[in-house]
Order: sequence, then structure tokens, then C-alpha cells
Amino acid sequence: MTNRADIDTASTPSLAGPPTMVRAAVSMPDTTTTIRHLDTSAAVGAVGWLEVESSAVCGTDVGLYGAGLDSPTVLGHHVVGTVVSVDRTQSAAWDVRPGDRVALEEYLPCMQQDCPACRIGDHRMCPQTDLFVGKRRVGLVPANDGSGLHGGNAEYMQLSANSLVYRLPAELDADLAAWTQPFANALDWTVDAGGAEEGSTVVIIGPGYHGISAVAAARAVGAARIVVIGVPESAGRLEIAESLGAVPVINDNDDLAELILRATGGEGADVLLDTVGLGGQAVAAARVLRKRGRLVIGGLGSTPVCELDLKSLVRGANTIVGVRGRSPDAVTRSIELLAGGRSGLEIVPSVDIGLDEVDDMLGRMATGQGPVSPHVVIRPQLRRPNTQKRGTLS
Ligand SMILES: [Zn+2]
Ligand SMILES: [Zn+2]
Repeated sequence: MTNRADIDTASTPSLAGPPTMVRAAVSMPDTTTTIRHLDTSAAVGAVGWLEVESSAVCGTDVGLYGAGLDSPTVLGHHVVGTVVSVDRTQSAAWDVRPGDRVALEEYLPCMQQDCPACRIGDHRMCPQTDLFVGKRRVGLVPANDGSGLHGGNAEYMQLSANSLVYRLPAELDADLAAWTQPFANALDWTVDAGGAEEGSTVVIIGPGYHGISAVAAARAVGAARIVVIGVPESAGRLEIAESLGAVPVINDNDDLAELILRATGGEGADVLLDTVGLGGQAVAAARVLRKRGRLVIGGLGSTPVCELDLKSLVRGANTIVGVRGRSPDAVTRSIELLAGGRSGLEIVPSVDIGLDEVDDMLGRMATGQGPVSPHVVIRPQLRRPNTQKRGTLS
């Protein structure tokens, strides 16, 4: 087999680079989104360009948007696309050539040897890419920075030397490819941090984007019992979780621990994953963890300070762990499982929208009026149906 890094990229066919002006959905601090044409020639530090295939909407985008962005920004950090140009150095470093389909991580880390995180490839812990410190992330760099094309909600986005690029199989279904990042998060949280394995009982709080991904992650490692807990308003999403093999449980202001005991035949959970930030309620429910069980906290919620039953923690040899993002290894496993048809996520409806619909969709999602399926995917090459039809109508 030829090692791709040995190929002289200059002698291989290369696609045209990006057009000078590209359409982008620019999200504003006043919680509106407008379509602008941004200039790729204004790019600073671009080592290549990606034609965006999909940019899946994540709860983090919706939260930041709803709270009011600091400045106009092209959002979108769960990005899949095709490399249309890449310089020779990065082509070799990433083992990627024009025409390759890739997924990105959102981190734009410092990559310095004196950074304890970057030195060991733990990019999510680099201060430069921290969501609350450096903020150098795909989908978070302001639109007035160079080309402004730093997020997935645009026809093209620039690649920088510190972009984290993963090659995707060309034949991977487009709906499944858009799951690469949230499914990687779910593998990191449920399996790596939570310790889910064959035979485990996994209880997931929240049937949203990451909750549904976590069901798939638990299923992929052979969990014996998967329970998903949601509020009455999320009944539609609980149905999706059920179709993936989870037991749906509605939490209508009930005692969470009691609900878990009832749903697990009194046995409790090996893994309790809070994807919504129930905070103190989730910590209180840690008393129904099984021996060596783990509570995995994926959000702060409204009670960042709470009481903890130390007696049950020690007796159960339990672990409580907070999680953020994912490891590079989790991305690789996500891609392998998706490509191998072993995620089960193909049954989750994909809500595909074009750039023109981003304003309406983000507005709806920020006010809790999003679609039933949590898998909302912006496809920048997609035009509104009425725009598409215009040319074919007689
Ligand atoms: Zn995200
Ligand atoms: Zn760093």
C-alpha cells in the first residue's frame, strides 16, 4: 500500500480553490442571523479551504446565540466538508489532499511545546481553545477576523495550521457523517469517562443531541440496559431514544433516584450521564449508583454548588467526573463505528436546512421551539425549496 504522505502533492490532481466571495450565515449579537458574502482573499493564516458539506447545530451554538454573541460570528463547529485546497506542508502533516472528505474538531489549540495540554495532544484542555478563556474555536472566531470564514455555517471555511482534521471515508453516508462530533463526545463521556461496557446499565439524563448520541455509544459497547430520562415536553425525543433501544422514562418533577431505581428493577446504574446540567438533582441521584458506578456531568445547570452524600459515594467506591469535549481517539472511534454501520444513528431523522433558514431555525431553537429530532444539519449548498424550484417551474 502506498503511504499517502509519500505522494508528491504537487503532481496529483488538485481542485480549484474557493471562489473569492462566498455565502455565509453571520449570526449577530442581537440574536438574528443574516446572509453575507465574505471575501476569501481577506484570509489571514489560511493553509487551505474546505467546501462545507454539513454543519450540525449543537446545544453550545444555541446557548451562545441565545445568550447574545460578543460579536458577529459565522457559527457552526460540527463541520464536515471536502478539502478544495491545502498547502504542501499541511497536506503532509494531515495526510490530506484536495478532494478528501474530512471532519473537523472545533479546537484551534496553540500547539506550543510549552503548553502541557498541546504537548501531549490533549487539545481540548489547551487554554487558547477553552470556551471561556482563549475562545479560539471553529464557529467562535469573530467575522471581522480576516476572512471571517471560521465556522461551518458558510459555503466554504478556511483551514489553519492548528485545525484538527480527520479524514472521512468518501462513501460514508452524509447524514451519518454529520454525527461524527456528537457521537465522539458521547463515546468519550459514556465509555471513556463513564466506563460503560458490555453488560452495563447506563442511565442518560436528557434525550437531546448528546443524549441520543450517548444511547448509540452505550449500545455500541454492548450495554445491557439503557434508560433515558426526559421531561414531558421531550416525549418525541424519548421516542427516538426508544427506537434506538433505550427505555424511555418521563420525569415530571419526580424524584430522580426513585425513577432510576424503578426503571432498573431496583438495581441502579453503572453509569449515570447528565447531558442537560441537572446539577444538584443529578448529584443527589448518585446515591443509586451501583458499586464502582460513575456519575458523569456534562453541564453545570442552575445548581453549580450542591450537597453530596459522601457516605454512599465511599461505600459504593463511586466516581463523579465532569466532562468536556472529546479526545482525538474518540473521534477516530466515532468515524470507525459510523463507517462500519455500527452506530444505529441512521434511524434518527435528520433535519436539513440551507443557509437561508439558519436565522429562523436558530431563533426557534434558542427559544425552545426546535424540531422534534435533535439532529439539525445546516447544508450550505442547499437552497430553499422555492429557490430550487424557480428554474424548473414553467
Ligand atoms: Zn458542539
Ligand atoms: Zn496549547
